[in-house]
Amino acid sequence: MRDADITVRVSATADPAAVRTARMGLLLRSLRDRGPRSRGRLAEETGLTRTVATGLIEELVELGLVTCEDADRRGAGRPGVQVRLVGSSVCGIGAEINVDHLAVVAVDLAGTVIAEFRRGIDGRRLPPEGVLAELAGLVEDALAEARTAGATVAGITVGVAGLVDTATQRVTLAPNLGWRDIDAAEEVRLRLAATAAPVPPVRVANEATLAATAELDPADADRADMVVLYGEVGLGGAIVSGGRVAPGRHGWAGEIGHFPIDPRGRRCGCGRAGCWETVVGLRALLEAATDPDDPVRDPVLTLEERLATLVERARLADGRTLAALDEVGTWLGTGAAVLVNTLNPGTVVLSGYYAVLGEWLRPAVEARLAADVLAPRAGGTRVAISAFGPTAAVRGGALVSLEPVLSDPTALADLHGGTR
Ligand SMILES: [Zn+2]
Repeated sequence: MRDADITVRVSATADPAAVRTARMGLLLRSLRDRGPRSRGRLAEETGLTRTVATGLIEELVELGLVTCEDADRRGAGRPGVQVRLVGSSVCGIGAEINVDHLAVVAVDLAGTVIAEFRRGIDGRRLPPEGVLAELAGLVEDALAEARTAGATVAGITVGVAGLVDTATQRVTLAPNLGWRDIDAAEEVRLRLAATAAPVPPVRVANEATLAATAELDPADADRADMVVLYGEVGLGGAIVSGGRVAPGRHGWAGEIGHFPIDPRGRRCGCGRAGCWETVVGLRALLEAATDPDDPVRDPVLTLEERLATLVERARLADGRTLAALDEVGTWLGTGAAVLVNTLNPGTVVLSGYYAVLGEWLRPAVEARLAADVLAPRAGGTRVAISAFGPTAAVRGGALVSLEPVLSDPTALADLHGGTR
């Protein structure tokens, strides 16, 4: 969320307590996104008077979320109080359920990763309860590490490769996992309650939506309107409009992996034929680049191990690997051109597994955009490679988990008292 949005919300409400907490959140976001600054400059940049800012900063100091330091003592010339975010006192946990792997990460308020766990699974063989039990085990490990580090856990957000109903918080359908109508949040909550109580709030979201949250950058105008392509076994997508991820009416927007790109193509996990992900998902790449008995297809491998092998083969200029990457990149660009013609985004982000192989995929994507987009210079759309890659969804999950503290920093006191 951008500072301007919060300013609008602050001015639209008349409740003084709500105004105060929203302003505290505004200060915290500003410190997180733009770094430490003098108190005067922070007040000016957030549109607050010095007196108001000083009072709110004092409250944030009491909550352990910021520190103030006299600039004089640091020999900085002009007198002034430097305000700095203390990120380590609170963290969010992001988790991801994918067909071939589980991942959990704890990220603190400053964006530092304080715990990270990954495990390869065969999500098509394991029943939902089995997958969720494994995931809860990893979350429990992350909770323990965060608590040992002295961080309060603000929440847990689980990303699933499938449709998640934002109102009911249930996984409506995850075709590649074979899941229908699963209350994943409740399953995780119950398991944690038995082993790692007290349990912070648990939420579920679409993993590509979470990945897009990690890709947001308020300082980059080209990312205010963007399309995020999150490559995994299938293809997850998210559309960012005006700096926000567009969820659609029920939270089901962005299912671009299932738009039909080749009506005579392969059968998709959703039961239809020729969906885009059947030619650009990791499964499609592995089928093109390897034989069925190739060790890279071993289900016990983590995603990183699988991708590392493919990167190594591409670097050695293995002909079959390069041809497979060019084929997937060309299909990726063909579909991306439809989205660029429709949405005219500033950026198309290659995230998930595409980021790891971006060096070989991007040229083919750019070539298709140049050929297939009606607007001049491919609509001015930039093709960017995600800095987070396959960790974008868990990172986004952790950021979403921190949102309640950024919206109302005083909520931290409740977390300290109740659910730490
Ligand atoms: Zn499909």
